[in-house]
Amino acid sequence: MSFRDEIQRHLRGEIAWNVPLANRTSLRVGGSADALLRPEDAEDLRVALAICRDHGVPVSFLGGGANTLLSDEGVEGVVVRLPVFAEEAEWDEKGATFTLGAGAPIARIPQLMRKHGLVGGEFLAGIPGTIGGATAMNAGTREGEFVRVVSAVELVSAEGARWFERDELDWTYRRCHLPEGGMVTRVRIRLRRADEEGLERSRAAMEADLGYRKRTQPLHLPASGSVFTNPPGDFAGRLIEAAGLKGRARGGARISPMHANWIVNEGGATASDVRHLVELAQGEVQARFGILLVPELRLLGRWQPWKT
Ligand SMILES: Cc1cc2nc3c(=O)[nH]c(=O)nc-3n(C[C@H](O)[C@H](O)[C@H](O)COP(=O)(O)OP(=O)(O)OC[C@H]3O[C@@H](n4cnc5c(N)ncnc54)[C@H](O)[C@@H]3O)c2cc1C
Repeated sequence: MSFRDEIQRHLRGEIAWNVPLANRTSLRVGGSADALLRPEDAEDLRVALAICRDHGVPVSFLGGGANTLLSDEGVEGVVVRLPVFAEEAEWDEKGATFTLGAGAPIARIPQLMRKHGLVGGEFLAGIPGTIGGATAMNAGTREGEFVRVVSAVELVSAEGARWFERDELDWTYRRCHLPEGGMVTRVRIRLRRADEEGLERSRAAMEADLGYRKRTQPLHLPASGSVFTNPPGDFAGRLIEAAGLKGRARGGARISPMHANWIVNEGGATASDVRHLVELAQGEVQARFGILLVPELRLLGRWQPWKT
């Protein structure tokens, strides 16, 4: 039986063919996926991954696309994007553990904090994307990383579903090294109760963070947040600016004049325009300062890997 027939016969969720994906990424560039798959639940995903494996069809995972550079040539095989699974909460005297679907927005965490008078995830306010993406990226700021609020992660692969305790996974700066072929489907998030003073501090920290973002980040244009991770003891943005590249453009893409570690799509940019600027910054910073900037931005689709 062909791949199409088999997946259509067994999948309870949805699959669509030849789907343009640019609008599902925050940079708004790139081509189409051969197929976009939305499983009904974790078991449906397992079945779909097993069918892909058996037919040798490549699989990629997409969350909110807020850290993704999608190739102009599109994506071979199946791109999986999760729906928002049902949420659960377990309370104790110190706080609550929420089981959130990986397709839920990161913004759900600050929302739950405000709603229930909880603290612990202040640094996540203003970070776009999904819980699954935040896990894979160990998203965060100087104030904290996603791992800090995680207590367990459920991963689904063609072999089955399994919960991992937080410390069973390898978390580093802007990356969780997930087992190959595993998609994050649910994450347990731990938040704490606080007294009135603690809650006030938490609210103030989130307000201050959102204000800082508005002042320093080009939030009015499509972008992906920081393009590079910061090298030890320095800032990628400072190095790119010092290399004289702030404001440099290629096609519709530009190294933001507001924040040199951001590339914005001013309209009509292609993924190749963005990649050209990424590689220009890498090349110039390495030539001038001997530091190879490592992209935080993840490639999706038909690309050569980044120089790292
Ligand atoms: C305006 C703006 C501000 C930002 N500010 C910050 C910031 O302060 N700090 C920060 O860390 N990031 C920031 N980012 C980047 C981005 O928000 C984070 O990296 C976020 O975690 C990406 O989540 P996503 O769901 O959009 O991931 P995607 O871009 O969809 O995917 C990113 C990676 O995660 C993988 N992935 C996604 N979902 C899953 C899953 N369920 N299972 C396994 N792998 C998966 C993808 O395959 C890909 O490799 C910003 C981005 C924007 C646009």
